[in-house]
Amino acid sequence: MKYGNSTMLASARANFDRASVLLSDEFPSDLLQKLRHPKERSEFRLAPQFSDGKIHSIDAFIVRHSDAIGPCKGGIRMSPMVTLDDVTALAMEMTWKCALIGVPFGGGKSGIVADPLKLSPDDKQTLIRSFTRNARGNIHPLIYVPAPDMGTNERDMGHIKDTISYSLGCATTQGSYVTGKPIIMGGIPGRREATGRGVVLSTMEALTTLGGGLKGARIIIQGFGNVGAGAAETFVELGAKVVGVSDVDEAIYDANGLNVAALLAHVRKTNSLRGAGQGQVVSHDALLEMPCDVLAPCATANQITSKNAERIQAKIIAEGANGPTSPDADVILNQRGVYVIPDILCNAGGVFVSYLEYTQETQQEQMSREEVLIRMDKRMKDKFKLVHDTAKSRKLPTREAAMYLALRNVCSALIARGALP
Ligand code: GLU
Repeated sequence: MKYGNSTMLASARANFDRASVLLSDEFPSDLLQKLRHPKERSEFRLAPQFSDGKIHSIDAFIVRHSDAIGPCKGGIRMSPMVTLDDVTALAMEMTWKCALIGVPFGGGKSGIVADPLKLSPDDKQTLIRSFTRNARGNIHPLIYVPAPDMGTNERDMGHIKDTISYSLGCATTQGSYVTGKPIIMGGIPGRREATGRGVVLSTMEALTTLGGGLKGARIIIQGFGNVGAGAAETFVELGAKVVGVSDVDEAIYDANGLNVAALLAHVRKTNSLRGAGQGQVVSHDALLEMPCDVLAPCATANQITSKNAERIQAKIIAEGANGPTSPDADVILNQRGVYVIPDILCNAGGVFVSYLEYTQETQQEQMSREEVLIRMDKRMKDKFKLVHDTAKSRKLPTREAAMYLALRNVCSALIARGALP
């Protein structure tokens, strides 16, 4: 396989390499090396006809990194910048996330190279349906099950399910082809807020473990999309103080705490934090370095690097985004005693609830929001404790402890499966 130079892939591999050293006594090196590469990378050239009457050429990718534990699971990222290598990194990360949080899935991811903010709702629907038709052979409950990621949402997942039901000639699909759907179409209550809630729960565990608690803790959140805004709401609900937030347009800070409900209302109306009329407007870079107890990067990859890690004032980093911290920054944060809740743990609430949705739909059952939240809360707490205890007993940084546990599960599955000639 030929790779380009994606920073995300380089980071994912560096994290993998650090963890595989820890497992070199337990598993043969060829087995570990197998997991350094994805199982399959598919590229598609979509040609949707948009409302301007023209056929547009749009690239899309699906990567299945590993299905050792189960069907590949992972969201669809729609961004003008997404590359096949980025999707490879994200699929790899999904393998570790599913293995760590303990759901019977492997890791996969999709990318669609388009700007969702520039598409009308109708054109986005056309694009999602075009992607689904073209990737029809890859999307299946036992092969790859997509979900929302950056740039895609519940509505898009509904259109995926509808496209597949239509092609099957049935009212619905047998089994779960996609998660994160509208509840009326077989989605599950609690899925939309699951990732943000998981970020808050793991932060609460970290704060309690380190001494103190969530009450009154000062939180900065980078990113005000589904994960960041959801986390902000739950942080406030549970008594924390959100002192800083940002989206692509604006970064704001108020040491006395922002009014999150008012920010959410402003964003619902204008689609942007700009002009929210609260706090002090700061630069996006400066926000990450402002005084706080917890910094929750919930936007995109590679935000905490060797360039700013020294100046981060937070004592906890809660990684709501995938891959927000570079491997160099990890070393600095670790030396400075900053506690990192690694992405494969911190933002795993989303895929955990996707698993509940998959189970519900496959078994034609119904689950209440209460049941979903009880199960998710317990799983997040248990896995936080496992990672924390492993880091302590093995004297490892938390990311390495989480990666060690995840990689060990995947290798054990490969051994249990045995090898086909
Ligand atoms: N896109 C989310 C993630 O990165 C959710 C994946 C899923 O639910 O399959 O974890």
